[in-house]
Amino acid sequence: DHVANQIAAGEVVQRPASVVKELMENSIDAKATDIKLVIKDAGKTLIQVIDNGAGMSVTDARLCFERHATSKIRHAEDLFDLHTKGFRGEALASIAAIAHVELKTKQDQEELGTHIIIEGSKFVSQEVAVLPKGTSFLVKNLFFNIPARRNFLKSDSVEMRHIVDEFQRVALAHPTIYFTLIHNGSEVFNLPASNYRQRIVNILGGKTNEKLVPVTEETEIVKISGFIGKPEFAKKNRGEQFFFVNNRFIKSGYLHHAIMSAYEGLLKEGNQPSYFLYLEVPPHTIDINIHPTKTEIKFDDEQSLYAILRASVKHSLGQFNV
Ligand code: ADP
Ligand code: MG
Repeated sequence: DHVANQIAAGEVVQRPASVVKELMENSIDAKATDIKLVIKDAGKTLIQVIDNGAGMSVTDARLCFERHATSKIRHAEDLFDLHTKGFRGEALASIAAIAHVELKTKQDQEELGTHIIIEGSKFVSQEVAVLPKGTSFLVKNLFFNIPARRNFLKSDSVEMRHIVDEFQRVALAHPTIYFTLIHNGSEVFNLPASNYRQRIVNILGGKTNEKLVPVTEETEIVKISGFIGKPEFAKKNRGEQFFFVNNRFIKSGYLHHAIMSAYEGLLKEGNQPSYFLYLEVPPHTIDINIHPTKTEIKFDDEQSLYAILRASVKHSLGQFNV
């Protein structure tokens, strides 16, 4: 089973940023309103996520490291109607297989919490502990037992870039949650609970506020909200392009194309517009299962989505031009 865990771990955990994503998504599923990410050495030494969410019972704290132990899917049909980020019950088992993990968790109604240490899928200790409400996962020495993987990690600046990307995606998708990111003892982000617009501005800073144009649209198949950048603020890189579907960051070359075609004639050659677009679709009209890291999804009616998105972006661009 250790071998199975290690193999599966390779799919879920490619780098420190994958751990960050899984842990933060779990905190969101646990309804946390305050999520703190602490990183040392770009996650190679330490990754910690502390939340004030629902916490786990003693039994669940131990069970959460078992493969396919998910509290989120009860029936096969639930897979087609997802309302949570997690659903495979794979992440924690995978992470615990290839790192040193310390879990501290307490439910609100309980007097005492649980403190578990697990290293390479082996339980080292489990104790009762005085803890605040919520959950802390501390992940040390990632890939300690897979030297090939560990050596394959990129420089700290590259790995940290990936972590910041994941952090920003999660923070942009959940503006009402308070997020902080601390790297090697310095605060990188401090994002108080806010709204979508202010969250974007808090993350990107500078002149972000003046360049944003709102987009809103509501049809039977999709509800669109969010912001696009005025064409004159477009730049050479694609660093400010975000799609969220049901508050999950996704990548879609097809939908990106819809945006680019809406900007046709408005951009200088090679320039890229900013966009922060939030699509809401009925959960049963998408399939998130096609990709292990869940960043690509399949839409039932991709073509209509394309047309609606293109039209509403065009409309917003036109409105601010007149
Ligand atoms: P999944 O998210 O797919 O269910 P995970 O391996 O990520 O699988 O987590 C396993 C289970 O552990 C979750 O279903 C949840 O019940 C519990 N869990 C994980 N993280 C937290 C957290 N931060 N707060 C409360 N419960 C958690
Ligand atoms: Mg999960």
